[in-house]
Amino acid sequence: MQNKLLIYNTLSRSKEKFTPITPGMVGLYVCGPTVYSDVHLGNCRTFISFDLIYRYLLFLGLKVRYVRNITDAGHLEGDRDEGEDKFAKKAKLEQLEPMEIVQKYTLGFHDVMREFNALPPSIEPTATGHICEQIEMIKMIIDKGYAYVKNGTVYFDVEKYNTEFSYGQLTNRKLDELLEGTRELSGQDEKKGRLDFALWIQSKPETLMKWPSPWGWGFPGWHIECSAMSSKYLGDTFDIHGGGMDLQATHHTNEIAQSQACNHKAPVNYWMHTNMLTVNGVRMSKSAGNGFLPGELFTGAHPLLEKGYSPMAVRFFMMQTHYRSTLDFSNEALQASEKGYARLMTSIKTLEHLKIGPTSTSNIAALEQKCFEAMNDDFNAPILVANLFEGARIINSVNDGKETITAEDLKRLQKIMHHFVFDVLGLKSEQSNSLTDKALQGVMEVILEIRKEVKAKKDFAASDKLRDDLNKIHIVIKDTKDGASWSIQE
Ligand code: AMP
Ligand code: ZN
Repeated sequence: MQNKLLIYNTLSRSKEKFTPITPGMVGLYVCGPTVYSDVHLGNCRTFISFDLIYRYLLFLGLKVRYVRNITDAGHLEGDRDEGEDKFAKKAKLEQLEPMEIVQKYTLGFHDVMREFNALPPSIEPTATGHICEQIEMIKMIIDKGYAYVKNGTVYFDVEKYNTEFSYGQLTNRKLDELLEGTRELSGQDEKKGRLDFALWIQSKPETLMKWPSPWGWGFPGWHIECSAMSSKYLGDTFDIHGGGMDLQATHHTNEIAQSQACNHKAPVNYWMHTNMLTVNGVRMSKSAGNGFLPGELFTGAHPLLEKGYSPMAVRFFMMQTHYRSTLDFSNEALQASEKGYARLMTSIKTLEHLKIGPTSTSNIAALEQKCFEAMNDDFNAPILVANLFEGARIINSVNDGKETITAEDLKRLQKIMHHFVFDVLGLKSEQSNSLTDKALQGVMEVILEIRKEVKAKKDFAASDKLRDDLNKIHIVIKDTKDGASWSIQE
């Protein structure tokens, strides 16, 4: 199955067969959060999409080194080369040290990822922990002639770079077009070219986070951290680099330029970009003010929310849209996902006590094949979910006695449901539910035992009343030759 995986590569704008550089191993880098405030649900969508991708690569038996950084320095307001440092601004507002801001929001980010059952990356490097590596890389870019120093700030020379390489490959734009879209330089600008960007920025006396460098005290630009950290942990050319689509045009374009200027080779074989979470068609962002925090979503404490939704219902909601399509938030969609998630979980429970028959009326091997095909087709989780619902339908049919399944196929169906629902989609049964479920299971065993006793005493009125009363609260009792069983009817 490994050699059948297709990945949509932003570089070629097409699905390509995935061939890792080293057979059996994958180097995966994903741009992590800028930890100056709480992550909103949009940020979570990107990280949950990559969690699905990471999980499927692992599921295929590949050994994955997953690096996801923490941006804790160098990210200026408006993603530009001038303006206030995001951490320093927040530190002043909250009257904290910048590193207290970093610590607070890093911990918050980890908590949220845990709630969504996202696996931690293999390495989570920070920009502040890799200042030396960034300085070394900037020195190399200057030595190779693609950067220049102006008053203690180092700029990448985009036009010079473009004479040998092609800048803007990721968005398929030529330099002339890109230049047209940028503002004219003013007399005060230090930059030589309009598209030039800072690799190192000279600090001001009031700058809180600064480090010594060959060019004086300052701090790194935002783009250089990902080039320096990805090459340190994954090599000069690695397999997959990911991030949200909004990072394509500048951040990732500049990462390619920096790495290529250093090593004269493309840093990444497959560029993957996830699409945005929107609210009423508008991208969720801190600046648009339409960002729900995951906590608000779980409790329902937000004017746009009709109620709270559990982390797994939200994760399932995200899995029902392909990662390259936009996902629009709505209460209706979330409520539908809540039901769908519950249906899937109930069917997995029913699977535990399904009875076997002499033949299988459904083709379970074909179902398994379709699950793999969906995920091999650029991680198509919504198609996978449709197949898992088909699995749930078969389970319910067998449970109702309308279909039969052999012992071998039952084992296979159990494997499919467990592997794809838990390991690949990363869903789990919710903690509170599982406690309640255990209690319900116990209560039902007691009731069925009582019913058995009254039936033995030929008190059929009492046994029918028990069955009918349970039916009213959607618990269906079925009498078979092996005894009674129960299920919840949705
Ligand atoms: P930031 O913390 O702003 O650096 O963003 C972290 C990640 O979240 C980046 O990969 C962004 O592309 C991604 N992101 C930001 N907004 C959204 C959104 N509305 N939907 C999906 N991903 C987003
Ligand atoms: Zn990055």
